[in-house]
Amino acid sequence: MRGVMGLITLQDIFCGAYPDYEHTHPLPAHVRRAARAIMQCRTAVLGGHVQACPDGHVSRIWYNSCRHRACPQCAYRQTARWLALQQARLLACDHYHVIFTLPHDLNPLWLANVLVMTTLFFQVVRDTLGTLLADPKYLGAQPGIIAALHTWSQTLLLHPHLPCLVTGGGLTPAGQWGAVRHGFLLPARVVMAVFRGKMVDALRQTFARGELALPEAMRPQQLLNLLHRLGHPTQTQWNVCIMERYRHGAGVVTYLARYRRGGPIKNARLVAWDGERVTFLYRARSEETEARALAFQRLTLSVADFLQRWLQHVPLPQTRVVRSYGLYHPRYAEALTLCRTVLGQPPVVVPARLDWQTMCAQRGAAHPERCPACGQILVCTSVIPRGGAPPFLPSEERAA
Ligand SMILES: [Zn+2]
Ligand SMILES: [Zn+2]
Repeated sequence: MRGVMGLITLQDIFCGAYPDYEHTHPLPAHVRRAARAIMQCRTAVLGGHVQACPDGHVSRIWYNSCRHRACPQCAYRQTARWLALQQARLLACDHYHVIFTLPHDLNPLWLANVLVMTTLFFQVVRDTLGTLLADPKYLGAQPGIIAALHTWSQTLLLHPHLPCLVTGGGLTPAGQWGAVRHGFLLPARVVMAVFRGKMVDALRQTFARGELALPEAMRPQQLLNLLHRLGHPTQTQWNVCIMERYRHGAGVVTYLARYRRGGPIKNARLVAWDGERVTFLYRARSEETEARALAFQRLTLSVADFLQRWLQHVPLPQTRVVRSYGLYHPRYAEALTLCRTVLGQPPVVVPARLDWQTMCAQRGAAHPERCPACGQILVCTSVIPRGGAPPFLPSEERAA
């Protein structure tokens, strides 16, 4: 039994339980691919290289990473790159963190139409924010928006929600910068009503065009009834949470970046795994304050339950889970430059690629690696091919 906090990895759980699980549960190809990547990450299957002291004091094997976006071991480098790019583009204005949540009654429809529902969700949120902020009653300008899809709750259940970073200002039709008045972006109740209306309409139209698959055991009339009920003004399942204002967007964009890669649970939250049950930490959140985190609690699930919950969040191939709109869309680079000038910022400079040395420094890791016995820099002595057996090393130290 592995019970020491911080030492359990998702890879341990997958290697121990996933092969059996796959035998008894039919899974789509992209989900099986993700599971295999996680099991093979940084093992001999993916190849690697050997680093050794020139005088032979030590030698270490470094295995390659799987680089799958759902793998918690691989998230760091790609996330750091994305984050640097986004931060370089942020406008020097207030930003707001707005979270849209779909009613859970739509979950069966989501599971039967992941791609269509994802597209609709992004489009409706973009249109809701775009229409309201363009209205002279509110901002009267086009904002910049970055939206990230999260499909999971803290306990890994299906909980599609879309946290967005929204500029507290935008480009007016006259080509001026217009800032949010009195630190107030939009009334949440109005945003919720527009979001609800647009999403229900979009679902009705998509269904009428025959582009929405019905969940098992749901008849067409039942779907129409469900949409009718969810579209009613007294319906409270639609949740829009507008968090307090931030002086700049860097914090929110870091928050969005954390969820872009690495899947729904990081290894640090895994507490215990005994071959049959998994215990992990989660933060309970109240409905109204979606992102206000409460204290950590523990949840223990059977491994089958844990895998079932985790696997439903593997994104479909080629789906972008983070999308930019308005001033932050690459198509509006000129408008972004104009706004930056007004706000006293230089044009966007694309940051250099993150090299290995910088990354090691950022993570507090030593680079280059030195021999603990004589202090010489370790050198690469051999390359392990993909699928190759691990080489025999006299002083074997498998580096993680
Ligand atoms: Zn990996
Ligand atoms: Zn040495």
